[in-house]
Amino acid sequence: MSVLLLNADLHCHSTVSDGVLSPATLAQRAADNGVELWALTDHDEVSGIAGARAAAQSLGMPFVAGVEISVTWAGKTVHIVGLGIDEQNSALVQGLAKTRSGRERRAHDMADDLARTAGIHGTFEGALRYVGNPDLISRSHFARYLVEIGACSSVAEVFRHYLADGKPGFVPHRWATLTEAVDWIRGAGGQAVIAHPGRYEFSPLAFDSLFHEFRTLGGVAIETVTGSHTPDQYDEYTRIANRYGFLVSRGSDFHSPEDAEVDIGRLPALPAASRAVWENWSLA
Ligand code: AMP
Ligand code: MN
Ligand code: MN
Ligand code: MN
Repeated sequence: MSVLLLNADLHCHSTVSDGVLSPATLAQRAADNGVELWALTDHDEVSGIAGARAAAQSLGMPFVAGVEISVTWAGKTVHIVGLGIDEQNSALVQGLAKTRSGRERRAHDMADDLARTAGIHGTFEGALRYVGNPDLISRSHFARYLVEIGACSSVAEVFRHYLADGKPGFVPHRWATLTEAVDWIRGAGGQAVIAHPGRYEFSPLAFDSLFHEFRTLGGVAIETVTGSHTPDQYDEYTRIANRYGFLVSRGSDFHSPEDAEVDIGRLPALPAASRAVWENWSLA
């Protein structure tokens, strides 16, 4: 079988960040859904990797360690996935800890803003009930609480009315730099991938400088087939990857059975013109 057709799912989240399933439960779901190569990529966290790897091993499912790092580039948030990292690398571990460190303060500020501008009170405590890792309180946890109290009917609807740039509950935040994120990933032996490029609201000129800068720093791939893209974007970003000489990655970005765009392991195949980021990996 062509390596292109491997059912790789290299982007998903556990309770260690803003997913609702534990690393071991995710591994089981991935295996049940036919995943042939799996990575756990929690936001700014690697503490789920050991459990994910052990579960994948017992299921006979090839696994690579991953992470999704929050970056601020040109004043906006960009996510950089690292694949094949040594999750014990000290510069990476310290860098991720630094990246996580402002989240609690930010969450208090988000709750204050929701109270002041939307009259919705108690969201810090409410969001906290959904948090699996006190070090990683995220907008997803607020979104689940806003659904619980009936402010919106789904997580997707929450992000149309709250928590997004310009909406109640949004608090600008300074994450890692692009240089730091790529350096941490490469320093830990991994490959750096731009997550879901179709989600960023950049001009064509800004995208061009992002891709150039990322490539110059040693970034090697972009996501094309992801739960965060439309089918048109699978093709659009495949063309862009080929134009810039990037490999491509594939991942559901699965967080929860309730509000998943695509279940883990259930993405369509990569377009034929793709060169997969895993093409030269030796799969254990
Ligand atoms: P944070 O890292 O706290 O800024 O939270 C970012 C997370 O919020 C993302 O990883 C997604 O899980 C979630 N999120 C952001 N925008 C949306 C959206 N439009 N729809 C659903 N989830 C979203
Ligand atoms: Mn998330
Ligand atoms: Mn992301
Ligand atoms: Mn993600």
